[in-house]
Amino acid sequence: MRLEDRIRDIQDFPQKGVLFKDITPLLQDGATFRAAMERMAAHYTGSGIQTVVGVESRGFIFGAPLAYLLNCGFVPVRKFGKLPAPTESVEYALEYGTNVVEIHKDAVKPGERVLIVDDLLATGGTVSASIELVERLGGHIAGVAFLVELTFLKGREKLKGHDVFALIKY
Ligand code: 5GP
Repeated sequence: MRLEDRIRDIQDFPQKGVLFKDITPLLQDGATFRAAMERMAAHYTGSGIQTVVGVESRGFIFGAPLAYLLNCGFVPVRKFGKLPAPTESVEYALEYGTNVVEIHKDAVKPGERVLIVDDLLATGGTVSASIELVERLGGHIAGVAFLVELTFLKGREKLKGHDVFALIKY
């Protein structure tokens, strides 16, 4: 089964000049969604992942089933102001302006082996902020996983030193 066949290109979204990779057709097809999750889980089986961190919001869609399949816990990284208990926060640059992401301070224990998950790697800014959050809590980044990697944006270079895995590469 080719996962790529269920990723759709949307021209000029969310703004003119951007070719957006829409993952919703893949989610919509049960067999393809399951195949994607099983392939991702297979890559990490036996690697001792203790916690999966999903990045809001599409990272939740892939992070939660991955945690379930790997038999470990799930931790959300959320946009500013959404988490109820004390948080750690990191501000990062967007193309225009900045964004703040947060994690609960007690969500990751020092030395814990953490896998960070998001739907897509573009420039790497979003996931770098999540890596910093986990590292501030003393967590060990055992891997960073994506459904899709846009290789021409060179996000992987920003994540140098980390084990980066993507099921689909463009
Ligand atoms: P980065 O921070 O790596 O530049 O951008 C990645 C973040 O933006 C991810 O959280 C991802 O959900 C979102 N993103 C950027 N471009 C796309 C795209 O073409 N398709 C999807 N599904 N998400 C995108």
